[in-house]
Amino acid sequence: MLVERLAEVEERLRAACRRAGRARNEVTLVAVTKTVSAETAALLPGLGACDLGESRPQELWHKAAVVQGARWHLIGHLQRNKIERTLPLIERIHSVDSARLLQALEEACKRAARTLPALLEVNASGEASKNGFAPEEVGSLAEIVAKLQHLRIDGLMTMAAHAEDPEKTRPTFAALRKLRDRLANEWGRALPHLSMGMSNDFEIAVEEGATMVRLGTVLFEGLEG
Ligand SMILES: *Cc1c(COP(=O)(O)O)cnc(C)c1O
Repeated sequence: MLVERLAEVEERLRAACRRAGRARNEVTLVAVTKTVSAETAALLPGLGACDLGESRPQELWHKAAVVQGARWHLIGHLQRNKIERTLPLIERIHSVDSARLLQALEEACKRAARTLPALLEVNASGEASKNGFAPEEVGSLAEIVAKLQHLRIDGLMTMAAHAEDPEKTRPTFAALRKLRDRLANEWGRALPHLSMGMSNDFEIAVEEGATMVRLGTVLFEGLEG
């Protein structure tokens, strides 16, 4: 049952935080609902899981219309022609993956007279199949980021390459943290957030400094079958 899955994940998050000498409230659980129905997603806020993530904008539109009391995170690619409809529904975007999207989101936020917390997606594992800025490319966004007034870049996001042994993902997560430290220093701004860790590797990510973990499979696999 969903309640039990949430409790198991909560216990694993607590244990990972304890090992890392971190407080549990430093890490936000983002429940990734892309594989479940809106009806199942709608149960989550009542069970204390209010931060929900979707990777496809259309799916987010659909679920946001049904689910009450959630804070929605867009965690996948956003095409510019979907910004207008998506922006009013989300609390944060984890997946800013181009300079053009940065600019387009800034303009849309300005028109809507709101701010939007946002993370730059980094392709830290270097896989061709993954979106995001190359690690060596992010530094060149300095000028653009400094000029943003409505989009608030406050950290980085990555996906590690899938590995049978989650320990193998540790260097990717450590590299994202080091890149964050370097950029924060160079840009002279706080970048407190690291969105990293999925079902297979979230405990390692927490040990390496994740402030948001994005979990789907571990919460939902087999539940609706
Ligand atoms: C699907 C997805 C997740 C969740 O992955 P699981 O392995 O099912 O936990 C996390 N982040 C992104 C960007 C995703 O698309």
